Amino acid sequence: MTDPGTTPAQADMSLSVEDGRIAAIARAPEPPASTEKPRRVALPALSNAHDHGRYLRSASVGAFDKPLESWLPFMGLAPGADPYLSAAAAFARSVRHGVANLMVHYTRVQGGMPYVDEARALARAARDVGNRIGFAIAMRDRQGIAYCDDATALAALRPAIRDAVAAQLAVKPVSAQQQLALVDDVARMIDGEGYGEHVTVQYGPTGVQWCSTPLLAAIAQASADHDRPVHLHLLETPYQREWADRTHPEGIVRYLDDLGLLSPRLTLAHCVYARPDELARLAERGVTIAVNTSSNLYLKSGIAPVPEMLRHGCRIALGLDCTGIDEDNDALRELRLAYQLHRGWGFDVTMTRAQLWAFAAQSGRRSVLGARAGALPGGRLEVGATADFMLLDWDALDDDALFPVDPFELLLARGSGAHIDEVVIGGRTVVAGGRVQGVDETALRAELLGQLRARIGAQPSVHAWRATLDALSDDLGPFYRKSAWFGCC
Ligand SMILES: [Zn+2]
Repeated sequence: MTDPGTTPAQADMSLSVEDGRIAAIARAPEPPASTEKPRRVALPALSNAHDHGRYLRSASVGAFDKPLESWLPFMGLAPGADPYLSAAAAFARSVRHGVANLMVHYTRVQGGMPYVDEARALARAARDVGNRIGFAIAMRDRQGIAYCDDATALAALRPAIRDAVAAQLAVKPVSAQQQLALVDDVARMIDGEGYGEHVTVQYGPTGVQWCSTPLLAAIAQASADHDRPVHLHLLETPYQREWADRTHPEGIVRYLDDLGLLSPRLTLAHCVYARPDELARLAERGVTIAVNTSSNLYLKSGIAPVPEMLRHGCRIALGLDCTGIDEDNDALRELRLAYQLHRGWGFDVTMTRAQLWAFAAQSGRRSVLGARAGALPGGRLEVGATADFMLLDWDALDDDALFPVDPFELLLARGSGAHIDEVVIGGRTVVAGGRVQGVDETALRAELLGQLRARIGAQPSVHAWRATLDALSDDLGPFYRKSAWFGCC
């Protein structure tokens, strides 16, 4: 399948690779004569335009069934792990599911070493696994507990947990200059040490409610000066919509535009609650929206208005946001979920297959690779394109084998990571026989979990903190439902 959804699949083809590029696609000289030879179907590799490169699954840290606002602090519950182990395990799982380009908005620092060293560990992990990552350094300077100043949020909590919550979550602001300097330091290390092929350094303001205007303005300026991408969450939940309308009556998207942030360099994660006029403006400015369907369901956020986004001409891209419908980061299952939710009801078509494929494999490349995306054409299999593709076990996918069927239909109906046999990124085989080649994924996982269990065992305070987070979650419910943060911003 050279461009699924746009061109029909062709049988008995061969594909050759030279210097990381697709050199030829031609009829196979000798079509397989017997059914004994395993049949495989080739398709372009995918891009995951919004993720955090976090290996741990939410339910494993007690964060199931929680809305985003009370789920967030649980992401810091487990003690930090070795950053290489944690990243390599996440990257291995990602490539095994066919993702060549992975966005890593690095909101959870593992710690225990200088930041630049931790960034280097991630770069080494990407090089060893063989994927490409966008590394967005998380930036924020306000509102650590809820969508209001920390003192107001603390006053709304039961007194017994206030000190612990303040100590762990209240923001300790770092100046915009220092935060920007850190991005420059990481970028210098990545370029200087030759990791540029695998890592695109980006600015990662976490969300408008967590970043002051001076910080966002400084990021907009620096992004323009350095032609460096920006990755930002926007309008993920109903509470964020309410906060935005209250705080920015002129319109939050207009506010970002006035700051100079809206450009093709920007990727916005979510936009679940964006309105038509806001979508029109995002489309006009060439912004990419990363849609995270299963994450929005998991965190009770809602369903993104994908048909409206498409109608307004928005550039949209698939994001897994460390989730997937089975908490397994399975990009093909995510594709199915997004398609079934957004393709339209009855005879209506609100998302075509071509749009779905652009969403899964084409649009997200720019989010991850930034300006490099132009030099690395991909998302379709054609001569001269970067050799990023996957081979699926056609016999397993078409195991009934009754009628000739369109492989793309079977892929959309039932394909999953379990069908992926081989993944090639930039001409390098990074997955073969369903196994990651550059690292020992099983051993990595065992070592990572062993390390985490030992650290949790050595730190009994973790359990008290978990109980505090459950209490915090209970207290935040009425706080948000009653819109108690209004008037405090
Ligand atoms: Zn996210």
